Amino acid sequence: MDAKKRTEVRAELVSQGYSFDYVDSWPPKVTLYPHKDLLNMDGKVAIPRGTPLPNHPGHPDHLARKSRLGLLSWPPTNSCECRACRESRIATQPAESAGSVEETTGQVVRGRPVGSKNKRRTTAGH
Ligand SMILES: [Zn+2]
Repeated sequence: MDAKKRTEVRAELVSQGYSFDYVDSWPPKVTLYPHKDLLNMDGKVAIPRGTPLPNHPGHPDHLARKSRLGLLSWPPTNSCECRACRESRIATQPAESAGSVEETTGQVVRGRPVGSKNKRRTTAGH
């Protein structure tokens, strides 16, 4: 890969959730996971989302092309930020439940300092 191609591939991989260093240190073989159901020619599900597909070449150019199909080197999760997962969340989740996830996260962060203060007070008794 020349420098220009390398920059393009890096930008594409990073936008899909790969680390910035991937184009510099990539493994010879990777396991890819579809982040959306892969359909066959008839429009039926050929490979369901999350199925491990081992022994793909780890070459960055190969992974950039696969990422366009929703194939990435980690399993899909509810917090995955790749394009396929974001699109599937928009398509399947009602707007209400997406809002409640954000609220819960805010409460956890706010509650943390109170808990650590209480712990210190109990051990300080002399
Ligand atoms: Zn994903």
